Amino acid sequence: MSTQPEAVAAKLKKIREAYIKQLPVQMEGIRASYATFVLGEQGGAPLEDLHRRIHTMKGACATFRLSMVSSAAMAGEQLAKDALQAMVAPDRLWHQKMQEHFARMEHEISIIDPAQGMESQIHELATAVEQIPERERKIVYLCEDDSYQRLTLAAQIGCFGFEVLSFGDLEHLVNAVQSAPPDAIVMDIIFPDQPFGGCDVMRTIQAERETPIPTVFISSQGALANRLSAVRAGSSAYFVKPVNMTELCSTLSQLTSAIKPEPYRIMIVDDDPQLSEYHSVILQEAGMLTLSVNDPLQVMSPLIEFKPDLILMDMYMPGCNGMELAKAIRQIGAYFSIPIVYLSSETDTEKQFQAMQTGGDAFLMKPIDPQRLVSSVTVRAERMKIIRSFMVRDSMTGLFNHTATKEHLDTAIANAQRKQEEVCFAMIDVDKFKAVNDTYGHPMGDRVLITLARLIRQRVRKTDTVGRFGGEEFAVILPGCSIGEATALMNEVRESFAALSFQTKDENFSCTFSCGVAVLSQFGDATALNAGADEALYAAKDGGRNLVVAAKGR
Ligand code: GH3
Ligand code: MG
Ligand code: MG
Repeated sequence: MSTQPEAVAAKLKKIREAYIKQLPVQMEGIRASYATFVLGEQGGAPLEDLHRRIHTMKGACATFRLSMVSSAAMAGEQLAKDALQAMVAPDRLWHQKMQEHFARMEHEISIIDPAQGMESQIHELATAVEQIPERERKIVYLCEDDSYQRLTLAAQIGCFGFEVLSFGDLEHLVNAVQSAPPDAIVMDIIFPDQPFGGCDVMRTIQAERETPIPTVFISSQGALANRLSAVRAGSSAYFVKPVNMTELCSTLSQLTSAIKPEPYRIMIVDDDPQLSEYHSVILQEAGMLTLSVNDPLQVMSPLIEFKPDLILMDMYMPGCNGMELAKAIRQIGAYFSIPIVYLSSETDTEKQFQAMQTGGDAFLMKPIDPQRLVSSVTVRAERMKIIRSFMVRDSMTGLFNHTATKEHLDTAIANAQRKQEEVCFAMIDVDKFKAVNDTYGHPMGDRVLITLARLIRQRVRKTDTVGRFGGEEFAVILPGCSIGEATALMNEVRESFAALSFQTKDENFSCTFSCGVAVLSQFGDATALNAGADEALYAAKDGGRNLVVAAKGR
């Protein structure tokens, strides 16, 4: 089921037109609900119904870029909410205000020009062409009670290369998840008669599962109460409507990526080789990667090369003690926040207290129960990994950022020198990218960059590092590759990228990039290697672009 962007654009337009057409009926529904509320007893269910109806209109209108109706509805929604939360009793003034909001909504609805407003959105949304084979498409379940928003979202997410199944009510979603769990769920929060329905249902679904399904909540409300409720239901992300589709889909692709999370990396510093070996085995059994350092004075190079997520530190060692070492490590900017857990047979609580004061995150007593060791290390290493990912990843493409890429290059060079291997460095710069932005708009430019990032990652080996070096510049680190192999690989990526066709409302276009590749043995260090690749990149631009050029050694 491949979705053609033009067809999708047309479909979206139709959905929007149909939505606009039924707005007066929806408005009548709101009026009727209000009448029921006025006739019946004050407060209670009729008021909730009124609130939900106005809320739904607000959300859907925002999605369809009917901003005037949406903001009129928002005012009405707030008033209904005030009464619901009994902040304002529905007195005469309240009713008068509500009538005014209704009148404004009706007025805004009456002056909608269906031809206006959606153009830019449709343009932006219908641009993505993902050349993903069907079998590799990830399955996303979408649950949204408003049929117009559901159709629109489903079409858009489909555009980004996902297989979307959508559900209008929670019960159907639950059944579908039970019979075939998807790769991810996109869930609305407010459902008829269930103000936190989406969260409630997801909490039940996740509680019954061994591994939770990645779930993204979408809501017209960004209030903390809603966000908390989403978090309690195991949310991975939260988007306020109107949803930024590029961000939503980039989150979905990160969440559904088949790349297994890296194991935690634990460095054990203990002068007793047997003990460090023993702790090492326990942590390895739990799936972690460990490195033991038995001489505390030798921690520096393993620290830089191994890049631990956490340090397990003995207290008393010859040469220097654990507290001094922790302090020294923390004084290095890059390790300021690395978790350090002391593991010692020190029973003096005063000493333990001192150790914690010098920047320890926890104090574990030897002998430690293996279970306890694993869990103490896991929680802290996990947090460190997340903090690090914020620091090292580029949020748009999910690739390593400039600083992290350079760090990886240093590590790769150190490893290569130790193993006496080659390492290549490639710099990529999209050709005439400014023209893409100028002609098709910035969001389209972003789509090109996201697509290129994904393509490079798919093509290179697992051991290679891909980074976003700058705006439309990318870098690839290729360990164990000769210059010939690296050039050939980058040429394959170049050809695949040039063959991609990006579709806009009016036309298709394609993009190319230029690339410079350099090999360590001809340059010697990171700075020279970087400069070599950069020079080769310029030679590729000079040579007419859409080229891969190998740097000439010094
Ligand atoms: P050349 O072939 O010589 O590389 O030409 P170019 O147009 O690609 O190079 P130039 O450096 O003049 O323009 C790069 C453009 O990339 C300018 C900048 O606005 C755009 N750009 C940088 N970062 C982003 C981004 O995140 N998104 C989008 N859409 N554009 C970006
Ligand atoms: Mg460029
Ligand atoms: Mg550039």
